[in-house]
This record gives sequence, C-alpha cells and structure tokens, in this order.
Amino acid sequence: MGAYDCPRNWRQGWAITLVFAGTYAAALLATYIGIPGGKLNLLVANALAQLPGEWGVAARNLQAWWLSWAPLRDMPQEQRLRLLVEENQWKNDLCLWVLPESLQAAMPHFVQTWVRCFLLCAAVYFAMSALWTYYIYYCFGDKLFEPGTIPAFKDVMEQMRVSSQAMPLYSFLPAFTELTSELGLTASYPRIENLGLPMYCICFFMYMVCVEFGVYWMHRGLHEIKWAYKYLHNEHHKYNKEHTLSPFAGLAFNPLDGMLQAVPYTLTLLFCPMHFLTHEILLFFTGVWTTNIHDNLHAKVYPIMGAGYHTIHHTSYKHNYGHYTVFFDQLYGTMLTPEEEQEEKAARKQQAVSPAGSVSGALDGEEQSLRGLDAAKAVEAH
Ligand SMILES: [Zn+2]
Ligand SMILES: [Zn+2]
Repeated sequence: MGAYDCPRNWRQGWAITLVFAGTYAAALLATYIGIPGGKLNLLVANALAQLPGEWGVAARNLQAWWLSWAPLRDMPQEQRLRLLVEENQWKNDLCLWVLPESLQAAMPHFVQTWVRCFLLCAAVYFAMSALWTYYIYYCFGDKLFEPGTIPAFKDVMEQMRVSSQAMPLYSFLPAFTELTSELGLTASYPRIENLGLPMYCICFFMYMVCVEFGVYWMHRGLHEIKWAYKYLHNEHHKYNKEHTLSPFAGLAFNPLDGMLQAVPYTLTLLFCPMHFLTHEILLFFTGVWTTNIHDNLHAKVYPIMGAGYHTIHHTSYKHNYGHYTVFFDQLYGTMLTPEEEQEEKAARKQQAVSPAGSVSGALDGEEQSLRGLDAAKAVEAH
C-alpha cells in the first residue's frame, strides 16, 4: 500500500474499525464459550451432548478432553485472588531484598509493588540499553553504521535523563494494574491450569490482538490530536533525525505519554481472560522491545514492526504507529516500509536534479498535490 492513500483521520477509517470490532467481539464470545468449566462452556457442551448417536458421544469425549487441560477450573474466585496477592507479595520479597527488612515491612503492599516495578523497570531499561549500545556501537559500529551516524554522547545522556525522570511515574501503571487484579476487577487468573494450556494460548492471542489495536490508536491519537502531540508526545519526537535515535530513547517519553501507550495492556485485562504473570512479563518486555526499535537497524522480518519502520515513524511523523506488528498500519493505510521510503528518497533526489518540468510529467496532478499536503502537515507537526 502506498504512503499517500491512507485515511487521514479515524472517521475515514470507521468502516474498518466497525468490521474489526465486530469480528473481535464475535471471537471474544467464542473465547468465553471455550473457557473450560465456565457457564457458557457447560451450556454449549451440555446441548451438544444431547445430540443423538455418535455425535453426542463425540461431543462428550471432546468436552472431557477439553476439561482435562484445566484441572484448576473450579477454583473459587476468592482463592484465585488470594493466589494473586501471594504471588505479587512473593515478587516484592524477591526484588526488595536490596532494602533493609524493617523498611520493607513498614511499606504498605501497594508501595512495595510500586518500588519493585520501579526497580525492575530501571533494571530492564539500563541493562538492555547498555548491552545493546555496547553491542551495536562499540563491537559492530563500523559494520552496521555509516561514518557519522552513531548518536552523539550528549543525545544519549539526554535520553537517559528523560527516561529516568519518567520511570517513577511509569511504575504506577503496573502497580495499579496489580491492585485492580488483586481486587478482582479484571479478567486475569493466577494459574494456567485455571483455563488449560490450549485456552491460555487462545486468550494470549486475543489479548495481543486487542493490545496491538489499542497501542496503534493510542499512538496515532497522540499524533493527530494536536494538544496531545504538543504537550505529551512531542517530548519523544525530539529525536527526529536518524543519528539522534539510540536504544536509550526507548523510554524517553513524557511520563503520561509513556503510560498512555501502555494503558491498552491494562484495559484489555478488564475483559480478556489473561494469565496475570504473562501479562506482567509482556508489559516489562515492552522495555526490551522499545530498546530494539530505536537502534536504527532494519531487520526485515515481516510482519514485525522493527527499527527500520520506527525510524521512519520518527522522521515522517505520520507512518508506522504499530506496536509489535505492521498489521494495523497496513489495515488503516499508514504503513511505509523502509524499502518504499528508499524509493521515495531516490525519486525526490531525481526530481531535484531533473530540469524543471521534466519530473512533473512523471507524477499525476493528484499525487503531487497530496505530497504537497503531506509536506505541509509534516512542517506543522514540527
Ligand atoms: Zn510517535
Ligand atoms: Zn520512538
């Protein structure tokens, strides 16, 4: 899909959104029917078991096989919540050994959780960014980068400063999500055996589809809503040249911006059954992922939204809003591949060196005017 035929706003993409939302709702209903031992599951399984002859026998066998995956399906909600609290406390004890015991004991459970999330967030950010920086710049910098394109030390320091200031606030999001899950306000569950491995995989897929959709629109909204871009997302787009981006830019956001982009992970938990520890690992894995997509290296692994795509996002402002994959950018027409970008650059170069008038014949009038509009919008975004 070309770069200039994308829907300009969400109103033009409403039909796609409606189809997606309908399909997702239907799939979510099917997911609920499939939850072993759940009310809908028993209702459908009992109805199928009434079928005459071999069909009924096959349905009963299938249901018995399905239930065998989930030996803890009948665990009462009260016990599930208790397990979640115990698991979270175990994580706190594991990570807070660095603090004096008396200090940990004096901190309420929520504060302990927040401190643990902050320490983990900082550890993931600094360890991953430092390792990746060492590997790509110091070990293989001469092979991976053109001379003069490695980010300056002062840019990297600035990114560290912005990230460090934002991390204490980021940490409120996972701490708050843990609290809501412990109170039973989410659809999360503590043990894979509550749903069984096959259902765990299905729910994981459903969860990620919704997160991907949510992150796409949250990110696009942060660009297209002018005040949101000006006061929130602009901070991350200070690094708008390829050679100013580094793995340390991965968490360099206005704190509210960073939290908003992670909010789909929490909101999806409200209605999509999800193993809580898996949710939390996914949330922290975004810290690893964001390191990777800010290193300017194009890995060419379709449909992964890697650094090649995200660098274009930083330089063009209006393409490649996706999280892990390019699917929603393709669906809404905002994808620009690194290869397409190279072609456009070459075409622009040719246009610049060609005598006046000779190139205009190569482009039709409509495309030229759209390019003009895009250029004006990009300038406005700056
Ligand atoms: Zn952006
Ligand atoms: Zn970025």
